[in-house]
Amino acid sequence: MSLLISNIGSLVTNDPAFGTGPLGLLADAAVVVEGDRIAWVGEAAAAPAADESVDAGGRALLPGFVDSHSHLVFAGDRTAEFNARMSGQSYTAGGIRTTVAATRAASDAELNANLTRYLAEMLRQGTTTVEVKSGYGLSTADEARSLRIASGHTAETTYLGAHVVGPEYADDPAGYVELVTGEMLAACAPHARWVDVFCERGAFDGDQARAVLTAGIAAGLLPRVHANQLTQGPGVRLAVELGAASADHCTHLSDADVAALADGDTVATLLPGAEFSTRAPYPDARRLLDAGARVALSTDCNPGSSFTSSMPFCLAVAVREMGMTPDEAVHAATAGGALALRRTDVGRVAPGARADLQLLDAPSHVHLAYRPGVPLTAAVWQGGVRRV
Ligand SMILES: [Zn+2]
Repeated sequence: MSLLISNIGSLVTNDPAFGTGPLGLLADAAVVVEGDRIAWVGEAAAAPAADESVDAGGRALLPGFVDSHSHLVFAGDRTAEFNARMSGQSYTAGGIRTTVAATRAASDAELNANLTRYLAEMLRQGTTTVEVKSGYGLSTADEARSLRIASGHTAETTYLGAHVVGPEYADDPAGYVELVTGEMLAACAPHARWVDVFCERGAFDGDQARAVLTAGIAAGLLPRVHANQLTQGPGVRLAVELGAASADHCTHLSDADVAALADGDTVATLLPGAEFSTRAPYPDARRLLDAGARVALSTDCNPGSSFTSSMPFCLAVAVREMGMTPDEAVHAATAGGALALRRTDVGRVAPGARADLQLLDAPSHVHLAYRPGVPLTAAVWQGGVRRV
């Protein structure tokens, strides 16, 4: 079956070959989908016939969002912690242990139902590719089952046994790193594509992070790093040195960190939901973009520090608070996320790409930042199938 989406007022292709600017914007456009792939992109007047057709009514069509950083295998919530923090207390990494206890106590069915619910929430807001991390199990069995459950929903699964030191190892962090790089890694690697570590004061230092990442790489996983969220530290430079696809957070950067990101292949993934939800200063996207770094935007959806599943929300905050233009923010939330996952089949609208598309109830992608908080998703196709 083929599908023609015609009368697209404004099409974001993310391919400069098809239109103007880095977004490859095309007016009065059409797209043809065949099976799960995009078959044709161009001006509506020149569109070929198809089995079915949809009239976009002059509205904007974009690639589905690529949310490259989430923590969706968990149970319970942290309403009380959020409420306390918004009443004046500061955020530290220790709150993760609350979710670990709830996650360990939950059944597989409960964890799977939670994950399914949040992925559906994301889809309704235009997100068609989601990375999901473990990291609330912190034991071999609980990390492995988290990844097994996640891998039933997405190919982008990340082993984050090194989220914080597991509660049983509170007095023996070296022993925990040994577990994470040994038995736990062996149990998790078959269910994961990526390895990640929270390189931060209160979590894992540079040497421990290097040990976690190099062990993961040796087991066939690809590295990505939680880096420089709460303080300046070695995370970003370690990520670049090890060829990580992404350094995530990048809130507290030295000039050397910015230069390393600009010169290397590692994407700077910014997660403004975390700063929003912890009343922390936002990362300076403008500084990174002006230096030539590649930037992605993601939700960091998790129950502790960023309980939003909304890419449009993150995009609007990035424009308002982080110095991004609307075009840059849309690019970062689509093509940027794809780059942060080393994916070439998503985050763009071009022949051969996956037919992951979102239609907005708006004439332009700029409305995503211009109309914050307004549900603009009119339709979503995932792999050519209409899902919303
Ligand atoms: Zn995270």
